[in-house]
Amino acid sequence: MTIAICPGHHEAKPGIQIAEFNEHIEAVIWAHFIAQDLGNLGLAIPAGVLRDRLTYLHALHPEFAVEIHFSQAEHFTIKHQCKNAHSVILAEILMGLTNGASSERFQVAPGYYHDDFAYGEDYFLAKAPCTALIFEAPVATATDPNRRAALCSALASSLATMAQNGVSQAYQG
Ligand SMILES: [Zn+2]
Repeated sequence: MTIAICPGHHEAKPGIQIAEFNEHIEAVIWAHFIAQDLGNLGLAIPAGVLRDRLTYLHALHPEFAVEIHFSQAEHFTIKHQCKNAHSVILAEILMGLTNGASSERFQVAPGYYHDDFAYGEDYFLAKAPCTALIFEAPVATATDPNRRAALCSALASSLATMAQNGVSQAYQG
């Protein structure tokens, strides 16, 4: 059982940049912490362009993949693969687990590119070779190291619980 944790964006196109905050660099840190908290279950995917991350995932063939992003919203969002019923169910399960493990509040949403269904499904979610989700955290959570550490471990323990409950059965190829 492997849960791949992917940092969103890449060095040349790092996503949101506000003052000291760099979305890609923050996502690399979170991927590392979450994978570390997951122990044998977790693997942080090397940073790189999306195409390379997907190539890595196709070679690795994990049971489950999570990509880390940030937004300027106040709330946390878990985005699922729009056309994958298992991904929708797992997003709901994970939201419930994470809401129990964290004082923060998570919501579930379909993963469309730029949050606009007219652009179609998010490319990572559409092309991942396994059931996949996106975690989107508020930028504000990155400025407090204690909050970040608590969130990463809450996410990791929720993912581990979900994995123990049979995430592999949800794998659709
Ligand atoms: Zn992003």
